[in-house]
Amino acid sequence: MPDATDPAPDTHITPSVNNPSSGSSPAPIILRSATPESEFNSLIFSRIFNRRRPDLSSSAIPWQHSRHPHAYCKPLTVSDVVACVDFARKKDKRIAIRSGGHSWACWSIRYDSILLDMIDFEGGVGSIRWEREMGEGVVSCGPAVTSAGLNEFLAEGGRMFPGGHCPDVGLGGFLLQGGMGWNCKNWGWACEYVVGVDVVTAGLEVLHINETKHKTCFTLLGVRGQPFLLS
Ligand SMILES: Cc1cc2nc3c(=O)[nH]c(=O)nc-3n(C[C@H](O)[C@H](O)[C@H](O)COP(=O)(O)OP(=O)(O)OC[C@H]3O[C@@H](n4cnc5c(N)ncnc54)[C@H](O)[C@@H]3O)c2cc1C
Repeated sequence: MPDATDPAPDTHITPSVNNPSSGSSPAPIILRSATPESEFNSLIFSRIFNRRRPDLSSSAIPWQHSRHPHAYCKPLTVSDVVACVDFARKKDKRIAIRSGGHSWACWSIRYDSILLDMIDFEGGVGSIRWEREMGEGVVSCGPAVTSAGLNEFLAEGGRMFPGGHCPDVGLGGFLLQGGMGWNCKNWGWACEYVVGVDVVTAGLEVLHINETKHKTCFTLLGVRGQPFLLS
């Protein structure tokens, strides 16, 4: 059912943040209020790995009982993500993110949020590449890349990453809300092998954070996470 509080004229808003690095069309932000319920629900439930679904039913106290997102977007570029954060700020909404869809409790589905589905972000699962200038064995990839996908890529170079035991877990959620990969007891947390992260902040900054740049933020990512892990 459309949310009576949603402004109707905002149908399928197109982000319009100018970012010279973006050559493609902006990804649309699809509003729940302007989309048939079954169509919107199939978007927000896409790529949830199990059949456990949060209760979307209405209630007198909606924030206690409903997990209805306000909108859905599948960002293709950094500027799409920035546009979604800008939109969320202007509409006073929260942001929720889906990388691999393997949260048992479907935590990518949040009440009154803009759901960012990262599956197609900057090449999606095909975004893995060697970063030889950063050192031997360094690769970059998007957050929807799975443990299996990354290790298939690395195997060609005779390397591996201590990803999740479930091959389909997405790196985004695994690094921020999992992290106990292969041989964890001896090799430690998976996030200890991350040398840098691209982040979009709530203030619309696009940052590359690592041991030397924005060190506190980088350390926090390893401890609890919550900013966007883009690549
Ligand atoms: C079958 C199965 C096996 C598993 N095996 C292991 C294992 O061996 N070791 C282990 O440690 N864990 C394991 N897990 C737990 C898994 O690592 C976590 O559930 C992880 O959070 C899933 O990540 P995801 O990206 O696939 O899920 P998602 O549902 O997409 O995301 C999970 C959470 O992380 C947040 N998030 C995702 N991407 C981003 C991002 N880019 N930026 C900011 N926040 C983000 C989401 O908002 C959500 O709250 C397993 C889970 C399942 C279902």
